[in-house]
This record gives sequence, C-alpha cells and structure tokens, in this order.
Amino acid sequence: MAGVDHALWRQIIEQVVAEGGHIIRPWFTELEPLALENGLLEIQVPGEEEKHYCQRNAVELFTGAAQSATGRLVGVCFLTNAVTAEAPEPDEGNYQADREVRPVGALTQFQDDYTFDAFVIGPCNRLAHAAAMAVSEAPGRSYNPLFLHGSVGLGKTHLLHAACQKLLADNPAANISLLTCEAFVNQFIGAVEKGHLQQFRYRYRHADVLAIDDIQFLANHEQIQEEFFHTFNTLYQEHKQIVISGDRGPGDIAGLEDRLVSRFHWGLVARVDRPCYETRLAIVHKKARRRGILLPDEVACLIAGTINSNTRELEGAIAKVAMLAQVANREIDLNLAEDALGAEPVTKTREVTIEDILTAVTARFSVRQADLQSKKRSRSIAFPRQICMFLARSLTRHSLEEIGGYFGGRDHTTVLHANRTIDALRGHDPQLQATLDHLARDICATA
Ligand code: ADP
Ligand code: MG
Repeated sequence: MAGVDHALWRQIIEQVVAEGGHIIRPWFTELEPLALENGLLEIQVPGEEEKHYCQRNAVELFTGAAQSATGRLVGVCFLTNAVTAEAPEPDEGNYQADREVRPVGALTQFQDDYTFDAFVIGPCNRLAHAAAMAVSEAPGRSYNPLFLHGSVGLGKTHLLHAACQKLLADNPAANISLLTCEAFVNQFIGAVEKGHLQQFRYRYRHADVLAIDDIQFLANHEQIQEEFFHTFNTLYQEHKQIVISGDRGPGDIAGLEDRLVSRFHWGLVARVDRPCYETRLAIVHKKARRRGILLPDEVACLIAGTINSNTRELEGAIAKVAMLAQVANREIDLNLAEDALGAEPVTKTREVTIEDILTAVTARFSVRQADLQSKKRSRSIAFPRQICMFLARSLTRHSLEEIGGYFGGRDHTTVLHANRTIDALRGHDPQLQATLDHLARDICATA
C-alpha cells in the first residue's frame, strides 16, 4: 500500500463501511490507496466505469472518511491504473458501474456478470426469469413485448442483460439494442438537435431486439413517447422482440400515454418481488463464491437474515464484510460480520415465523390450524401439513425436531419425509410449484 499508512486506510474503510450504505458496490473490495500528498488522497479503482461511478456517488463518502481519519482537510480523487489517461467519460444514462462493461456489436454494452448462470431463481422472480429465458430462446415468438417490473435492486436489469447476452451468444449476427431509457431519451434529444433524426430512427427501427431499461424515464416526455410508439409499432409488426423494464407496472407509471400502456400489455407483464430468506441466502452464497470470498455459513445466514430490502444491498453487505476483513486482516466470522453490518442501521427483517406459514396455508387450503397440529392423518389435512413442514424447513431456521414437534408431536424423520415428498412432487407438478411460490411470496410479504 504505497504512500498511505495502512492504519489510516483502515480507519477510512471502517468509516466507509459504516456510512456507505447503498453506495457500496461489490468491487469496493478492490479499491486501493495510492498516495496521500498535498492534501489529496488518490484511490485506485478497477476501471473507467467504476471511476465514473465513484466520481458521481462516492466523493463525499470518501472525503468525509478521509477527513475524519486524518483530522485535516483532504480531497479525494479516483484513478484507474490504465496507462491511457484519456478514456472517454461514459454517456449519461449508460449503466452505472457494477463491473467491467464490455462493448458488444456496435450498439450495446453488456454487464459481464449479468448472465442467467449468475441469476438465482426463487418465488420472487420465477416468472420473470422464465419469461426472459423464453424470450431469449424464441425472440419475437414467445412473449412480445416482455415487460418486467419491480422496485430497485431486484434484478430487472440483470435479466434484461442475461436475455440479450444469451440471444447474442446463440445468434452472433443479431442486431441487439439494449440501453437505458435515459440513454434513449438523451440520444433522441441529441438527434433532434443535430438533425440526425433519420439515423436515430433507422438505428432503433431496424433492431432485431430492442431492450429498454427503466422505461419510467419516458414519463411526461410526450414527443419521445410519440417516437417510441412508432418504433414499437414498427418492431412489433415485424415480429422483432421488445423487452422493457420499469420500476412499476405499465398502468402505474404516471405520465405514460394510454396507447403505450395498452401495448405494453399485449405480451407478458411479469413482476419481480423482494427475495425471501431462502432466495437471499442462495444469492449471498452465489455472489460470494463468484467473487472468491469465503463466507462461513453463519455469516451468509446473518447477511440474508439482516438485509431484506433488495439484492443490491445484499451485495453491498458482502462487500462490507470483505472490506473489513481485508483492512483489519481478520478472518471472516460472525463477529466481524456483525461489526461490518451493525455499524449502520440496517433494515432488520422480521424473520418468517411458523405462525406466518400457518396463516397462509390454512387460508389457502381451508383447513384449521388445530387440525394441522393434530394427529389426524386424512389426506385433506396431511397434505397441507406436509406443505407447512416444507415451507418451515425452507423459510425458517427451526430444526427438523422443532418443526416435527410443533406439528402434532411428530419426529424429525416425518419432517424429512414431508420435505422430500413435496420437493419431488413440485418437480413435476407446475401447479404445486406455483402454489408454493404464491405461499412463499405471501409469507415473505408479511414478514
Ligand atoms: P434492478 O434493475 O431491478 O434495479 P439489478 O438488475 O441492477 O436490479 O440488480 C441489482 C444487483 O442485484 C445486481 O448486481 C444483480 O446482479 C443482483 N441480483 C438481483 N437479483 C438477483 C438474483 N435473483 N440472482 C443473482 N443476482 C441478483
Ligand atoms: Mg435496473
């Protein structure tokens, strides 16, 4: 760590971890202090996109941390280690850095790690994932348009990129335009100003696939909605695939013309929900593994149990733990994770309880709680009871013994058996899978 005292950098990082909240990105673990000279702290970032991200979002955070650590007035600048000092600034509205962005074809930039492989499927996103997959396998023929919506950090952009990357891998000649709506709006305005409207139109009306991220940016831009409307119609008539994401459903975006809203409903509208505990845990494991971070089980459980807002925050939490381990040269264990996460007020999940599960299952199957907890074995009761056990196993942290005891004093082998039975059944019964997804979603929504 040339030029910067390790203890000082550690203090800075500790404050960044404590105060960085949603600003922290997974690649923050790769930040390195280069020098502290003449009141300027130079921090190396992995690439241009990351530099741009830090300049836009993290200057105050690091300046504050550097000033309290040194007790002096310190400025901060972010540098890449690239020799080419004059890399262009990314366009406004292009993707905020999460990882290296790789240019593909003439038009599109993909996030390398936003692939289907890297995506964890759960009840919260099963439909959206399946639809994105279907679209990438049969563009223009399965769901057109595909409209994905949900609040921030739940994987919409990830799915858009995954679908487009798969399409391109299967069909390298495809003309794929994937861009944020903000970029679309800015390019339109630029084209009007420079008199290049024809080129703009040609570019988007001749795409094989047009994927627009965060369509809510169209709201109240009447002229651009008009333009988009015609683009949409041209592509649709030619059976070209259109994929759209938004922060809410088409009908709920204020300031969006009715004719667009109705077109967005022509295909499939799929919502992405907040992930439940089980999915969060799978995401934490996957993200950590992909970044080469060794997370003990109990730490992964702590992160998944503490952060329930969205996946972006989960990634931030993993980064915090890894950063703290790095600067403090400590093993990643429960204590360290608590230090990293406890440093700021995080949204505590109320964990799913067995009562939540009972409430949902009794309502769904019209059975009484007392029967589920009784010794009765008729199928109309035994089946929902097995579902309860299965859900309790996946959504709570109770042991097999506890779950068995709760449901009529049964032993752990009964719970294991129930778990295996439901797991096997759902594998070839899509209706049961849908029921389980619904239940899990309802249960997690109340938790
Ligand atoms: P959105 O576009 O909905 O705001 P993003 O697609 O940008 O959210 O996702 C935020 C982060 O969370 C990304 O790093 C993405 O890889 C990750 N993410 C979201 N959902 C999942 C998932 N189901 N599996 C793996 N990673 C996910
Ligand atoms: Mg997004």
